[in-house]
Amino acid sequence: MKLPPLLILLALAGAVIRAAAPAASPAAPPAAAVPAPDSAEDRRARELVARPAFQAAVRAYDRDFERFVRELILLTEIPAPPFKEKARGEAFARLLREAGLADVTTDAEGNVIGRRPGRPGGTAPLLAVAAHLDTVFPEDTDVRVKRSGTRLIAPGVGDDTRGLALLLAMVRALGAAGIETPGDLLFIGNVGEEGPGDLRGMRYLFQRGPWQGRIPRFISIDGSNNDLITNGALGSLRYRVTFKGPGGHSWGAFGQVNPAFALGGAIAALGKVVVPRQPKVSYNVGLVSGGTSVNSIPFEVGMEVDLRSVSPEELRKVAARFKEIIEAAVAEENAARATTFGRVTAEVKLIGDRPSGTTSPDTPELLQVAAVMRAFDKVAVWNISSTDSNLPISLGIPAFTISSQSARRGGRSHSLDEWTDVEQPTAVQDFSLALALILGVAELP
Ligand SMILES: [Zn+2]
Repeated sequence: MKLPPLLILLALAGAVIRAAAPAASPAAPPAAAVPAPDSAEDRRARELVARPAFQAAVRAYDRDFERFVRELILLTEIPAPPFKEKARGEAFARLLREAGLADVTTDAEGNVIGRRPGRPGGTAPLLAVAAHLDTVFPEDTDVRVKRSGTRLIAPGVGDDTRGLALLLAMVRALGAAGIETPGDLLFIGNVGEEGPGDLRGMRYLFQRGPWQGRIPRFISIDGSNNDLITNGALGSLRYRVTFKGPGGHSWGAFGQVNPAFALGGAIAALGKVVVPRQPKVSYNVGLVSGGTSVNSIPFEVGMEVDLRSVSPEELRKVAARFKEIIEAAVAEENAARATTFGRVTAEVKLIGDRPSGTTSPDTPELLQVAAVMRAFDKVAVWNISSTDSNLPISLGIPAFTISSQSARRGGRSHSLDEWTDVEQPTAVQDFSLALALILGVAELP
């Protein structure tokens, strides 16, 4: 097949381009999601990647590559645990200004928002593109970046610092190529994506802050496989359960109720719950704590539990079952031993609530995304995950998550040896795909 001019450009830049074999009957996705290759979306996608200004933006990224790597390292080395994203946010705001955005603000929750105005008189709706500032790592983690060949190794370097660096490079490349979009673009470094953050950045952005009601479409850049388009929002409910009792001496008060036995009973019962595979449901006891000494009946023990499903209904069901189990375990312990000095109680506190839902592949945004993927000889693989897009998806806003890089070019996310590869020709291809996906949606009327 004829290579689009962009790919010729990349081939000249040293990228290894394989001529695509005729597509061998790809797994049949829903018919509506795959218009004939000559659909309006496909024509728009091909025209976009062939456009001189688009190619100029990709060349600008290529030329600017060392700066992309430098900023990726700089941001990675600023710790950003949940609720402590401030320092990294300030650096990101400064870098957004240096990248050429005049209108950069930080909202009350800590989200950094850079607005790139659309073409004067342009009427397309605004598009927000976000990467998250926070990492899962505690404050004292060694976040210095080590290099091994083209690999950068450090906690958080891929998830999602690479997304942040990509946003900055994109702002510069759009500026260098003089690209004007028909509507405004928002470039956002947001807080609160990881565990305890519970999407607080997105909640504020979409439900409380100055941009509430003003973001009609949204793309999150997160994850490390750009074959995947995450349009399914994996919902979760997270609980902290605290079992309390009167406590006492392990010998002297033997025979009195013990909250540890209630906790153990609850864990054992939860482990036996059978859940559907389709739609998938999961449960986990992720953290167990409590007690004061080996020879004391504890007065307090606890656990943290994570329940997940893409189906809001199944999630509600497993949550209801979980609460019954807690009640039963408490009742069982109070029946099994003496309550002379008090009974065992359990407090169930909701500590995480991520909504679920799906952006349909039939929306204009995802039809365009699928066409852009085809223009890059890729088939969009619709994916389900828990990302910042969960929140807008649950509000019915067309939202989805794309990745900053190719599959197998990064890994070990959430571990101390997390890595991301910055081999330039591949990174340039990854950049051009992300840019085409974003511009493809931004140019929709
Ligand atoms: Zn992430």
